[in-house]
Amino acid sequence: MNIVLLGPPGIGKGTVATKLSKKLGIPHIATGDMLRENVAQKTKLGLDAKSYMDKGLLVPDRVVVKMVKERLQKNDCKNGFILDGFPRTINQAEEIGKEIKIDKVVNIQASDEIIIDRLSKRKVCRKCGFIYHLVYIKPKKDNICDKCNGELYQREDDKPKAIKERLKVYRKETEPLIDYYKDKGILA
Ligand code: ADP
Ligand code: ZN
Repeated sequence: MNIVLLGPPGIGKGTVATKLSKKLGIPHIATGDMLRENVAQKTKLGLDAKSYMDKGLLVPDRVVVKMVKERLQKNDCKNGFILDGFPRTINQAEEIGKEIKIDKVVNIQASDEIIIDRLSKRKVCRKCGFIYHLVYIKPKKDNICDKCNGELYQREDDKPKAIKERLKVYRKETEPLIDYYKDKGILA
């Protein structure tokens, strides 16, 4: 089954996708994680993407679409996949729709208040990517990952200024996808 998780930043797409991926035995493909890996490794793609990401803006469609298309061609996607953070614009949805059939789009929702609380108290493991929340999913030791002893850090775009920008971008660019997929009859 080819699944898309839709919803505002910080809603918990990554957390849900991790669980779902284990349960269904299909890969979790998070464009944000892929981009951050490229930034960490200082690839050309990462260097291009970083300035957009730090400000909470979207990385240009052509860059992200190419990256996702390449990823979906890998063998592990044969029996399905969970896309997390993609598509984020109507244009991205159209581009991916030309090549791949999406079976189900799950829209996750919460109020801005909850979202801001989740984002501003989020910490991520630098090594394994596990997502913590300083109140709800607390690490046993401060700033150290329970799973792999990696260092926890706050994402640049989880700071207040970028959070506001990301919510604005979400409303304008990504929210229209709810109706887009509703019209296709695959929204849950
Ligand atoms: P969140 O869902 O918590 O906002 P992500 O980790 O999905 O965060 O994305 C982080 C950043 O990576 C985004 O703010 C954006 O700059 C970039 N990004 C991720 N996915 C896309 C995409 N599909 N299109 C454009 N930019 C993207
Ligand atoms: Zn870890």
